[in-house]
Amino acid sequence: MAMVRSGPRCEPSRFGPPNGVGACPFYGSSSLSPISSPRHLLVLDLDETLVHTSAILKGRCDLVLRNVTMSPGEAPRTCYVHYRPRLIPFLQEAARLFDVCVFTAGTQPYADQVLDHIDPSRSVVHYRLYRHHCEAHPGTLGQGYTYVKNIARLGRPLSQVIIADNSPVSYQLQPQNGIAVPPWTGEDRKDTFLLGTLMQWLRRLATKDDVIPTLAEIGNRTLQP
Ligand SMILES: [Mg+2]
Repeated sequence: MAMVRSGPRCEPSRFGPPNGVGACPFYGSSSLSPISSPRHLLVLDLDETLVHTSAILKGRCDLVLRNVTMSPGEAPRTCYVHYRPRLIPFLQEAARLFDVCVFTAGTQPYADQVLDHIDPSRSVVHYRLYRHHCEAHPGTLGQGYTYVKNIARLGRPLSQVIIADNSPVSYQLQPQNGIAVPPWTGEDRKDTFLLGTLMQWLRRLATKDDVIPTLAEIGNRTLQP
């Protein structure tokens, strides 16, 4: 899968809904990722990893979205976006160490509003991938879809890709590349995970030729928020 560089926007009409296992709307695209990049690729989830978005205002919020549709067919509503504490300095440091991709199972209209607010100059989130870039796997109990992020399609060797996500289901195809992020739901304003625990590991990972052994070390620990 080639990624959308965070400069030119992709055209939603080119992609459409998830095409199921084995299909990828980005195959064949002329938008190529820089596979020769000397930096590893850090793939970050959005909701409950970097931000919490809710129809309920939880104290101070960072962004109000009006008439936003979170899922196709859903009525537009007002939503409140809460940034996880230290989000901006975390992203600034991450962008210094890695090529950064936010890969969300959220829809592009929603995610772009949030990311345009977080990174208006498009300098810390280098790539954006959305729900329509996920693979749709049948959900548990036959209900709906589970959106799976197949990072093998990002044009990088898996030895150089890290995915940090609060939902391990999202990276079930490459669990060896994952960091299980404790979900943040907006209440704990003293949460230190991003710039604390996560960044400590990322600094180590950035120095490794192959990230997998270090990720295995993390996998044996329970990361605390
Ligand atoms: Mg999430």
